[in-house]
Amino acid sequence: MNVRDSEVICGLLITMNYELTTDPDEADIIIFNTCSVRQHAEDKVWSEIGKFRKAKTAKRKPIIGLVGCMAQNYKEKVFERASNVDFVVGPSDIHKIPQILDKVTRHQIPDTSKSLLELKVWETDGSVRPEEIYHTGFYEDKSHAYVVILEGCSNFCSYCVVPYVRGELRNRNYKDILKEIEEAIDKGITKITLLGQNVNAYHYEEVNFVKLVSFVNVVKGLKEFSFITLHPKDTSLELFQAMADLEKIKKYLHLPVQSGSDRILKSMNRGYTKRFYLDLTDNYRKIVKDGVLTTDIIVGFPTETEEDFRDTYNLVNDVQFDAAYIFKYSPRPHTEAEKFLDDVPKEEKERRHKIILDLQREISRKRKC
Ligand code: SF4
Repeated sequence: MNVRDSEVICGLLITMNYELTTDPDEADIIIFNTCSVRQHAEDKVWSEIGKFRKAKTAKRKPIIGLVGCMAQNYKEKVFERASNVDFVVGPSDIHKIPQILDKVTRHQIPDTSKSLLELKVWETDGSVRPEEIYHTGFYEDKSHAYVVILEGCSNFCSYCVVPYVRGELRNRNYKDILKEIEEAIDKGITKITLLGQNVNAYHYEEVNFVKLVSFVNVVKGLKEFSFITLHPKDTSLELFQAMADLEKIKKYLHLPVQSGSDRILKSMNRGYTKRFYLDLTDNYRKIVKDGVLTTDIIVGFPTETEEDFRDTYNLVNDVQFDAAYIFKYSPRPHTEAEKFLDDVPKEEKERRHKIILDLQREISRKRKC
């Protein structure tokens, strides 16, 4: 999602006659598009911003912006921690960046009578993104494009910061989505990925996600498409059937399970059980022949016992994923789980992480043979 948001921001700046550079030393504006899903990602951003502190005291002073989920999370507090940041913009406000740059450029003229906050700009109201921002025509990859179909998420999994930083679920009009795909094809794109935190929650008027993929499948000039990410509780056999029947859909399913323990799944507020997940993946394998299946797993969630962990281990062994992204739990601000005692020691999280990683590596190796 952040990759696409960065393209949207670049597209907006290009329409303002800015040019892109990959060299920070020659940049007039440096924008950090940030992620808050894990503490590690945030730590990296603070450290990167720190590296530009010196540049701000040198002759050339690039304007520095912090956008995305960290911006929404910390709002004006960003300036206390990183005084070299000039503006802060939440994910739902990225369309305001052109006006913000106008304001910030005016503030570049030194004015010692003003306080630090008077010289800064932050926009974190979380307003609805205007449709036009998806139509600037800027894509980093010349053959593949990401297309956002919905923004935000209303599932409130207890560990996840997304509903707080990206807001609740908002669906784009399917006609606008199809128009964007056609525009991308006119620019030479032949492959697309439909994007959303929970794509199968898509619903606009009478069109649900299965109907949307059937529309996308017949777009002229499109050769292949895929989608990420799905939530197991909203995933239907109808979707698997569409994946089997529609010739342009890539047979790839990323279905985050997070845990194999029913007790932990309940505490995570995931809305399904281990049995439900096993039946779902079983059906996927039966309906979508040779379909690839990947997942996300969190180890060391609060109160996770050895028995809970073994349930996750056994699930990974039973399902035989093609690949899995395995994470050590870290509490995120605003979330329900932040109130839980983070009682699995760091070393234990690392041990569990390594055990699942080793198991998955072995499974992935065998499945490739
Ligand atoms: S479904 Fe995904 S994005 Fe939504 S709250 Fe749960 S983990 Fe976060």
